[in-house]
Amino acid sequence: MNIKKLTCLILCFTLACGALISCNISQQDKTNEPQTQSKSYYEFFDTVSVIFSYEGDDSTVFEQRHTAVSSLLQKYHRLFDIYYEYAGINNLKTVNLKAGIEPVKVDRELIDFLLYCKEIYTLTNGKTNIAMGSVLKLWHDARELSIDSPDRAYIPSEQELYDASLHTDIESIIIDEENSTVYISDPQTSIDVGAVGKGYATEKAAELLLEMGVKSYVLNIGGNIRAIGQKMSGNGWITGITNPDKTSEDSFVCRVVIKDISLVTSGDYERYFMFDGKKYHHIIDPSTNMPAEHFSSVSVFVKDSGLADALSTALFCMSYEQGLEIINSLDGADAIWVYRDGTVKATNGITFSNNKP
Ligand code: ADP
Ligand code: MG
Repeated sequence: MNIKKLTCLILCFTLACGALISCNISQQDKTNEPQTQSKSYYEFFDTVSVIFSYEGDDSTVFEQRHTAVSSLLQKYHRLFDIYYEYAGINNLKTVNLKAGIEPVKVDRELIDFLLYCKEIYTLTNGKTNIAMGSVLKLWHDARELSIDSPDRAYIPSEQELYDASLHTDIESIIIDEENSTVYISDPQTSIDVGAVGKGYATEKAAELLLEMGVKSYVLNIGGNIRAIGQKMSGNGWITGITNPDKTSEDSFVCRVVIKDISLVTSGDYERYFMFDGKKYHHIIDPSTNMPAEHFSSVSVFVKDSGLADALSTALFCMSYEQGLEIINSLDGADAIWVYRDGTVKATNGITFSNNKP
């Protein structure tokens, strides 16, 4: 990531986190709530991670907790990396390099994650497909060059996309649980877990914190929010759903109250490039191989952060009706769809707030 991008990301993120920290602390809460503590990390998943404690644990305990979370995030960051390898572990880059050559011995954590991704593929009717690396790489390369050198901006050709799409079969990822190996049987298929990895790691971090006995924490891993418990007063946290329309005076389309849940948004407004006057973002519909055009953003609320992440990408790539059917089939899941014309639709389980975050 270049410096400009990182600075911009840190700024946006600080603002977003500020919104979350200061959220909905009524006068009474302000006097009763313990002091908030937070710790930020910049080295995982090409984004900013912030751990907030709202329970007034002493600073040594907080340090133990955030240090444990950061080692866990580092472990998953390394396992899921498709650009770099690390001494002493086989990660997804290794697995991709060995496609069509040989199975790769990997840690149990990676096996569990890939099995989960296969379940996600089924649940989302193939819309969130980690075997889409070949297609995603074409878009990734076009985006990087078009952002760095707008005069050389381009989009991948239809033919290239079609050819790449012939190598996106999830079944070519062969997992051998007994021997703890992964093998991609098609040499031209590759894995990209950008749609699920961050959320999955966030949920593992939440599980770890729960094992360590936390009651009132919030994780914000690159915008994947996981609220653990609630504020000590019993209130929830208020956070805003970002307004994709950057020309609007309102930064948020609405404000919501969250307790013991994850909130993950997939949108077209942060990672995109311009070509020929048109915007091309980073969420690719497997049925067209093009950036999905149904919505500007979709936010998913469900306890498990991995599921929330995977679903937000999937729902972004399907109609409202198809997305609603999936949300309705799951316990405790809700969603907010923001259409390109600004129309907002939401399921019934969401608590909205009029208070500004
Ligand atoms: P963000 O990365 O902004 O949090 P998402 O969770 O929606 O947003 O993930 C987008 C990333 O997932 C892309 O950068 C790409 O790596 C990958 N991706 C895009 N479209 C798909 C898809 N249909 N299935 C699986 N992965 C995808
Ligand atoms: Mg996602």
